[in-house]
Amino acid sequence: MNWGYAIHKLLVGARLRCPNCEQGKMFHGLFSIDKTCPVCGVRYERLDGESIGGTLINLVFAEVLSMGGYIITQALFAPPLAFQLPFWVAFNIIFILLFYRHARGMWVSVAYLSGSVYPDSEAPKEPASKTQ
Ligand SMILES: [Zn+2]
Repeated sequence: MNWGYAIHKLLVGARLRCPNCEQGKMFHGLFSIDKTCPVCGVRYERLDGESIGGTLINLVFAEVLSMGGYIITQALFAPPLAFQLPFWVAFNIIFILLFYRHARGMWVSVAYLSGSVYPDSEAPKEPASKTQ
C-alpha cells in the first residue's frame, strides 16, 4: 500500500470531500451524510451501520486528546481536579460534536481505500457469496 496516497485520501475525507473525485461535498447539514457524491455519483455507504467506523475514529481522537491534555496539564500546572474534570468532560462533548463529520468523512475514505466506495452503475449484479 502506498501510505502517502492513503494519508492523502484520509485528509480528503477529513475535509468532507468525496475520496473518489475529491470535489463533491459529502455533507449537507451538521450530521447527515449524502448517499451519493453530487459530482461523480459514488455511493458513500452501502450497508446500514457502516458509520460505526466513523464513530470509532471520533471517539479515539477525543479520548487521546482529552486524556493527553489532562496528563500534560496536570504535569505542567497541577490544577485542582475541580477544574480539570469539568473542563475535559466539556472538551470531550464539544470535540465529539464538532469532529463527527470529519471522522465520518475519514471513514468513507477508509471504505474507499478498501474498494467499497464506487458508483451504483459499477456494483456487482450478484453478491460473490451467492454462488451456491
Ligand atoms: Zn465524487
